[in-house]
Amino acid sequence: MSAKIISGTETAKAIREELKKEVAELADKVIPGLVTILVGEDPASQSYVAAKNKTAHALGIHSEQVTLDAETSEDDLLALVEKYNNDDKIHGILVQLPLPKHIDEAKILNAINPDKDVDGFHPVNVGRMVLGEKCFLPCTPHGVLELLQRSGVETSGAEVVVVGRSNIVGKPVANLMLQKRAAGNATVTLCHTRTKDMDFHTKRADILIVAAGVANMIKADQVKEGVVVIDVGVNRIGMTESGKAKLAGDVDFESVKEKASAITPVPGGVGPMTITMLMKNTVQSARQFAGLA
Ligand code: NAP
Repeated sequence: MSAKIISGTETAKAIREELKKEVAELADKVIPGLVTILVGEDPASQSYVAAKNKTAHALGIHSEQVTLDAETSEDDLLALVEKYNNDDKIHGILVQLPLPKHIDEAKILNAINPDKDVDGFHPVNVGRMVLGEKCFLPCTPHGVLELLQRSGVETSGAEVVVVGRSNIVGKPVANLMLQKRAAGNATVTLCHTRTKDMDFHTKRADILIVAAGVANMIKADQVKEGVVVIDVGVNRIGMTESGKAKLAGDVDFESVKEKASAITPVPGGVGPMTITMLMKNTVQSARQFAGLA
């Protein structure tokens, strides 16, 4: 059996079309506004921020990009965040991570108004998510949920195994999968580097979500026939002939697709969903500020 490919590119495209329409319909009441703040010159961060601004622009979202010197002080960054907390044109504030070592990331993220925290990383939003309350869901886990839902994958009662327990992917995605609602209601196991027998868990997964950051670590003999695989991993494993970064997921796609019933590719799987969910959160925020949600 060769798996159905769950295309993040196609799903993201469909959601972006919906958002574009929604932004156009909102135009006489509110124009959603997003600011991205980048500190330093990390090339990967630069390209993520550029992609976020480009997508915002394409959807009719007002977007501002601030690039600061790598030597920027924590106080100056805090002051900038505060400025955008009070800017009525801006409904979403995104500070691109990682920040330079001399800046306390948690302090910066905590300074963002939770009502403008479209990344969903502020403790207030994390707390609301865990309690199942209305909040901004973190973008990558939210993207995973949308992919499963829009691909018609039944999560209720499913054995979901998540590999990786980071604050931005593993922990929130595991939490969302066990929530009592659509695209939830699963029985969830969370694995990490201290897990004693990883194969025992991955082999009984109906849905396997991998976010470990280790290229091709999950092989066909570690999954059961018919599993649905969501590969969050993005690993640079060299260069293509055209000089672009060659990417691999955390799952050995070629072998696992022969056993899975459905699988996301890398690239073109979870990646395109993350930025799309950022846009969705920004539009949601604008609606809330305009009293329309
Ligand atoms: P991270 O903070 O480095 O966390 C990795 C997690 O995986 C840790 O919890 C670690 O366990 C676990 N892990 C690592 N190696 C393992 C192994 N051999 N066996 C079991 N568990 C293992 O990474 P992250 O930020 O969550 O990102 C994970 C991957 O997703 C990366 O490739 C990243 O580039 C990608 N990513 C993609 C998107 C997207 O939009 N597509 C967004 C975010 C991240 P310990 O806690 O025990 O160390």
